[in-house]
Amino acid sequence: MKKTTKTALAVCGGAAAAGLGVNIAKAVRLKPAKQEKKELPPEKVDLERYKRNLSDAIRIPTVSDRDRDKVDWAQFEKFHALLEERYPLFHKAFSKEVISDASLLYYMPGSDPSLDPIAMIAHQDVVPVTPGTEQDWKYEPFGGVEAEGCIWGRGSIDMKNHLIAVMESVETLLEEGWRPARDVYVLLGHNEENMMHRESGAAYISRELERRGVHLEALMDEGGAVLEAHVKGLLDVNVIGVGIAEKGQADIEITLAGKGGHSSQPPVHNALGRMADVIKDLEDHQFKSEFTPLLGELFMRPAAKGTLPVRMVAANLKALKPALTLALSKIPLAAGIVRTTTAVTMAKGSPAPNVLPQKASINVNFRMMPGTSTKDVIDHIRKVVRNKDIELRVVKTKEPSKVSPIDTPAFRKIEEIYGADPKNVVIPYLVFGGTDSYLYEPVCENIYRYSPFRLSVALLANTHGTNERIPVDCMEDAVVFFKRYIRGMTI
Ligand SMILES: [Zn+2]
Repeated sequence: MKKTTKTALAVCGGAAAAGLGVNIAKAVRLKPAKQEKKELPPEKVDLERYKRNLSDAIRIPTVSDRDRDKVDWAQFEKFHALLEERYPLFHKAFSKEVISDASLLYYMPGSDPSLDPIAMIAHQDVVPVTPGTEQDWKYEPFGGVEAEGCIWGRGSIDMKNHLIAVMESVETLLEEGWRPARDVYVLLGHNEENMMHRESGAAYISRELERRGVHLEALMDEGGAVLEAHVKGLLDVNVIGVGIAEKGQADIEITLAGKGGHSSQPPVHNALGRMADVIKDLEDHQFKSEFTPLLGELFMRPAAKGTLPVRMVAANLKALKPALTLALSKIPLAAGIVRTTTAVTMAKGSPAPNVLPQKASINVNFRMMPGTSTKDVIDHIRKVVRNKDIELRVVKTKEPSKVSPIDTPAFRKIEEIYGADPKNVVIPYLVFGGTDSYLYEPVCENIYRYSPFRLSVALLANTHGTNERIPVDCMEDAVVFFKRYIRGMTI
């Protein structure tokens, strides 16, 4: 354990001990009434078909690229043909439009036009295999091999698993005679991995929906997952993490001019040396940490299902907030939950070993909390960096998303489905990475980022990595969830 982590935990523990004596009664009251596991009606799932179709989907390398001339469009055509061939009822019930090169807009009208539609979204594209790492894969990265209880390959977690599960669930619902009251959209982008913002397929689809006057009741995209949280004697729950917001990202280049010259006659501080002070100012003056209401939910919901010591922390949350916020801000893994993070990622000086820099530059990558804009980041840099000669350039930016409300039919539906098992706890949380879903904000307020797969933290961390794979034993539950959610939202 790192020193900062230890300190943070000590702070947290000390504050907890100080505050706990008073509120044991409250902690006892927090204990949930003993709830029996309810059995929901079973759902038919064709797992063999799902596995086969996922493997075949992985075998089509739908790799996107920022430069559209570098994209092998034939692979996307193949992928579209695969969906059409494997899901005949779906393609009979839904109209299909290709938008912006290879994104797909599927639409099925419901029986009650007074209701707002729902949308299920996913991206078809995958990231490439990093050159030089091909031989590190245990199984062919685009082989879709089933082995050791998993299906292996690029896209098996991000996110052909999710896309094919949506197709499976709708196909099965149609086989069972499902007739939705609401309109249903299935929207499949083709270049999410390149974060092309206004130019991404999802943005084109969103603008098209806006043009048609469509307003969505709810939209579901990738993001959260099912995580098992077992801490012996303290907590034994399944955390259903539903992303209700995502952080923004900004790359800012900071430049300082220098005099240059030969390295044999250096000044006391050249441009790079002065840049070192800039970096130190940025690292020493982090954004303010805050305990958001979202974070409160993150703590309260699972804690209420824990044993007495865990419930004591929850019952005393108000008193513990300052200490918890401080503790979290000191743990690198957790700091991103409480504040906008600052990471200096690249540095440049002169082009040769014996040349003094004529200019020095760094790239700083910020991950913004909802409510913090790129302009706020610029203001922050100007405020905390003492050297006023710096020049700033916004290299790339994506503003943070809005925060979706949780008092909505869609969120309640997710809670209702998982509420059948008292071990489950649905938690709204903040997604650190980017998804296509924020592009739909003009047509939808209720955006939920959730992939219903039970995955270990290690497997989740493997997204975009070598040996990406999905355990077969979590696949059936995903289709079951989607069937219940889509049917539940459309009757
Ligand atoms: Zn993804």
